[in-house]
Amino acid sequence: AEEVGGGDKEVVREYFNNSGFQRWKKIYGETDDVNKVQLDIRLGHSKTVENVMTMLTEEGSLEGVTVCDAGCGTGLLSIPLAKQGAIVSASDISAAMVAEAEKQAREALLSSDGSSLAPVMPKFTVSDLESLDGKYHTVVCLDVLIHYPQSKADAMIAHLASLADERLLLSFAPKTFYYDLLKRVGELFPGPSKATRAYLHAEADVERALQKVGWRIRKRGLVTTQFYFSKLVEAVPA
Ligand code: SAM
Repeated sequence: AEEVGGGDKEVVREYFNNSGFQRWKKIYGETDDVNKVQLDIRLGHSKTVENVMTMLTEEGSLEGVTVCDAGCGTGLLSIPLAKQGAIVSASDISAAMVAEAEKQAREALLSSDGSSLAPVMPKFTVSDLESLDGKYHTVVCLDVLIHYPQSKADAMIAHLASLADERLLLSFAPKTFYYDLLKRVGELFPGPSKATRAYLHAEADVERALQKVGWRIRKRGLVTTQFYFSKLVEAVPA
């Protein structure tokens, strides 16, 4: 079913501009109108963001460091990065997500008198990650690979690595036996708000894709809650 309806990317774009935007805006937000599953995912995801901030800052200050946040969603990573002084270029395939991220960043970083909590406001652009160019000290891509099969993910990883000078942080849903099983059970009993297809990635496959372009994994992290599974890796030039 990979290429049905113009391919995964068109399906993903359409989803995150419409029903997926509504669903994820709620999950990534702060309001109470979420169910137990959504709340669990919200908490799991915030843990991933926290882990990314720890991995990044333990290597030194982010002041003046250029960071590309590829597939930025509602800006949940871009905002703390900017607060720490990073020069953030954030982008997403979904125009709806980018508009929401801009709004969130203004609310979080600008006070009513117009002064800013961030030395540099993040710059937001609508773009799929495959079209990004330029060079950044750090590239981060969180919870995006889940929308693509490994055959596509390899090229995406290679492209993201080509944009990064020093490090690349990626998170993905790990293909472990247990989660694989859960997912299959999920497919047998699809829920009402079943989203797009979810693709799991074996850590070894992600590592191989990185190695192919001359990168090695330096740090690893994992967040698992009841409904949220995300493996985080930090890669550096080998
Ligand atoms: N990275 C954000 C975070 O962790 O808060 C958002 C994660 S959300 C699950 C996945 C995001 O990836 C969506 O906002 C979606 O629009 C975006 N996305 C999916 N495919 C993309 C692509 N090919 N290029 C850029 N963004 C993409």
